[in-house]
Amino acid sequence: MQRDTLVFDLIKQELERQRRGIELIASENFTSLQVMQAMGNVMTNKYAEGYPGRRYYGGCEIVDQTEQLAIDRLKEIFNIEYANVQPHSGAQANAALMLAILQPGDAILGLDLSMGGHLTHGSAVNFSGKLYQPHFYGVKREDGLVDYEMLEEKARTVKPKLIICGASAYSRDWDYARIRKVADEVGAFVMADIAHPAGLIAKGLLSSPFEHCHFVTSTTHKTLRGPRGGVIMMKKDWENPFGLKDVKGNLRLMSNLIDMAVFPGTQGGPLEHVIAAKAIAFGEILTDEFLTYQQQVQKNAQAMAQAFTNRGYQIISGGTDNHLMLIDLRNKNISGKKAEQVLGHADITANKNMVPYDDKSAFVTSGIRFGVAAITTRGMMEDHMEFVVNAIDTTLMSADDENKLKEIKKQVNEFMSQFVLYPEMG
Ligand SMILES: *Cc1c(COP(=O)(O)O)cnc(C)c1O
Repeated sequence: MQRDTLVFDLIKQELERQRRGIELIASENFTSLQVMQAMGNVMTNKYAEGYPGRRYYGGCEIVDQTEQLAIDRLKEIFNIEYANVQPHSGAQANAALMLAILQPGDAILGLDLSMGGHLTHGSAVNFSGKLYQPHFYGVKREDGLVDYEMLEEKARTVKPKLIICGASAYSRDWDYARIRKVADEVGAFVMADIAHPAGLIAKGLLSSPFEHCHFVTSTTHKTLRGPRGGVIMMKKDWENPFGLKDVKGNLRLMSNLIDMAVFPGTQGGPLEHVIAAKAIAFGEILTDEFLTYQQQVQKNAQAMAQAFTNRGYQIISGGTDNHLMLIDLRNKNISGKKAEQVLGHADITANKNMVPYDDKSAFVTSGIRFGVAAITTRGMMEDHMEFVVNAIDTTLMSADDENKLKEIKKQVNEFMSQFVLYPEMG
């Protein structure tokens, strides 16, 4: 068959784009070469519905080993009893978990999307807001911190079956113990969605949800720096509280219900090539180098937040504990949409984002979100944050000056050439 140069040329162009720009999308990262290589392998040809040792297809003895390795390594990373590595993405992990423990129409309580939450936490346009009855808590207007009192009040009035903590645009740590307390009071499960800060939690740099939350879900491609995918985890397995029994009359474990909700509940065959890459990424996370990396992520985020504050930018909650920050641009007289657009002209990639109590729509927004996981992987240290923030500030302040933007883009490209991305790829 003829090589499809059209598509391979586009892939090459994407590599060049990634190389020359400053990547500040908080949910992105650069995997190691071996993680990427593992995704393009013959395991993509294999059907393996089921789980290691109990599959619906023959010929699974090799993929059983990679999947088991991924499971074992993930359990070791977080010191937990149960892990499912099959969800194709973070959204799929949440869909499966909710299917495992909820009935259609059950009330759920999550952080409002416009306050930093995620679509899968009950948004009207998502399965979670259509199948279940969504309720929301927010962050406080005065300090941008999660409004735990509001969460408790809502929990007591709507009596949700599930309380979801975790966010996509929240720069502070969570008080998981406090959420568990009110959950116990109203008879709710607690799920922590650590899609964003999982890498920091893995290395003990943020508080761990596992002691307090019944369930933890995550993506594997954000701060965990693995392939695109999702996982579902539990600190401890336990007998399901719904009275569901197996054919022998034994109470099924919670882990059985979750496994069944992933497959056959919400997915078909697992992506065993991606699971192989997950296994490699999890092996990398277990190393000391990954600790050094996450420590640098935290230092870079704090240095970046400080540099923005020095220039009069308003960071929601005043700073960051993790890898990201959300900036309210209203005092700079530029919308999130326009900021994203002009930064793009300077080869700086970020995304517009609503800020709490935003008066602009989700398509325009007053805010922009920056994360440092990707640039830290590129090799940046605290000292480099000054250049990055200066480039952003100059861009935003010269938004209508095409010549100035061209000049910044040139400086950005030159600056990035010192941080070589995938040198092995030529
Ligand atoms: C990114 C994210 C997800 C979804 O992950 P996908 O892999 O894009 O489906 C879920 N929850 C939160 C909090 C996220 O930030």
